[in-house]
Amino acid sequence: MFDILIRNGRIVDGTGNPWFPADVGIEHDRITVVGNLSNAEAAMTIDAQDAIVCPGFIDCHSHSDQTILANREATSSVYQGVTTEIVGNCGLGFAPVTKISRSVTEKMVHSLTPEVPVSWSSCGDLLDRIDEGIAINIGYLVAHGAIRRAAMGSADRAPNLAEIATMERLLAESLDAGALGLSFGLEFMPGRLAGRDELLHMCQMAAERGKPTAWHVRDRTRDFEASVNEALSVTRETGAALQLSHLSAKPGSAPRAWNRVMEAVRLARAQGQDVQCDMIPYNVGPGLLAAILPVWATQGTVDEVQARLRDPATRERLVAQSDRYWMMFSRREWDKITLTASQAHVNWVGMTLREIGQATGEDPFDCVYDILADEGEGYEQVWVNGVLFTEGDIIEWLADPLFSIASDGFTSKDHGPLSKIINHPNSFGWTPRVLGAYVHELRTMSLEEAIRKMTSMPATRFGLLDRGLLRPGMMADVAVFNEEAFRTRATYLKPQIYAEGMQTVIVNGQVALQDGAPTDTLAGRVIRP
Ligand SMILES: [Zn+2]
Repeated sequence: MFDILIRNGRIVDGTGNPWFPADVGIEHDRITVVGNLSNAEAAMTIDAQDAIVCPGFIDCHSHSDQTILANREATSSVYQGVTTEIVGNCGLGFAPVTKISRSVTEKMVHSLTPEVPVSWSSCGDLLDRIDEGIAINIGYLVAHGAIRRAAMGSADRAPNLAEIATMERLLAESLDAGALGLSFGLEFMPGRLAGRDELLHMCQMAAERGKPTAWHVRDRTRDFEASVNEALSVTRETGAALQLSHLSAKPGSAPRAWNRVMEAVRLARAQGQDVQCDMIPYNVGPGLLAAILPVWATQGTVDEVQARLRDPATRERLVAQSDRYWMMFSRREWDKITLTASQAHVNWVGMTLREIGQATGEDPFDCVYDILADEGEGYEQVWVNGVLFTEGDIIEWLADPLFSIASDGFTSKDHGPLSKIINHPNSFGWTPRVLGAYVHELRTMSLEEAIRKMTSMPATRFGLLDRGLLRPGMMADVAVFNEEAFRTRATYLKPQIYAEGMQTVIVNGQVALQDGAPTDTLAGRVIRP
């Protein structure tokens, strides 16, 4: 007698092997049989005729630690068949917290989820808090940014010996409390203040505990190769495993930089270094319009910032110094940048900067500064989408055998305050996009390979050795869907639309989505080694 029996499905088992017909028997929270169970009985039977049965998807690059406490049902994830997310990426995290970092951490948490009190100090406390009931499994990477801030605030310098010792202690405590690894975000504050010596200390500690390190590298434009080489060199020296997060050559990187980076990665592997990569399935990325402003332009009060933005002479200086962030601005590639969120210019949302320039008869640079100035207080929350890569780039990167596929998104809902922070279709639509665009339309990957890159490959990478495969003994995380029916309707302009066509999702042996609707069963767990 099984608890759940899934009959007549096409099993895509997560190894990348071709599908085969079989039934799946689940007892308690484990898969116990994959085979012919036509005479078996079960408390619950799911008919998977004409459907794919595969391991629940594992998102190895998620930021859902920033939203899960306000969305324990993980609604957008469950609709996509995602059963596990590895969170705390890009060096951005909310634990550990000390006296030094508490007020900044509270600000960060409350900017997204004002209703969540920061009631934790250690990483273990936060994991306990998350584990009080969630619909999916969460694996946690402790963020270098949180550790640095907890040890030395926002100090713009190298840590002294006492601070390094504090950082090492906080990292060790976090890893011992259940963090699966360590993440860096060397393009952001405070991660970008970290020098090589600090990185070596952190990676040494991760290596001693056998934990992987995930790197959002310093730069993916002009210094792309040097930035990846820094990650390769620090992890080679310490022996830490290296995950190169959302690895991609952005506009402004040297011709063929991508090829040289991947040659360096393959050479490192040939020499015995454990290096892998991941990437998201989109060639368009979200960004903040204010990021093209040099630091001096953003200092002082909002009135001072606005006055600068409106002053013609200052605008000339700003244009001259726009060779930063997305190089598309300084190259005047206005077709590639679309306004996606603005309070002051709602009617321009959905238009490219070229179209806005044509509509107003102004230079698009003037439109940019007008938009920012008109926005007032909220000028740092004006969002744009940019065509950062070609579709050919994405096809090549996702198909590379060293790449897992991930979201870089947040679990969210299609209504309420949490829906407002979603400005890219990745959070609601990444798994159906992979299967719809790259497996079915473009046919650049087989179904089995795409599923491997979203199940067993990321599972193995982060040490989840009893997940990511449909095999007896594995945890019962399962997705059942019809290939033709499963699709995303989330778009760049309306990204908060749930995926359609997922039939059944099982998390730890309990049904999280039934007949296409979430059950809001909180059967997920924080996965600690
Ligand atoms: Zn990142």
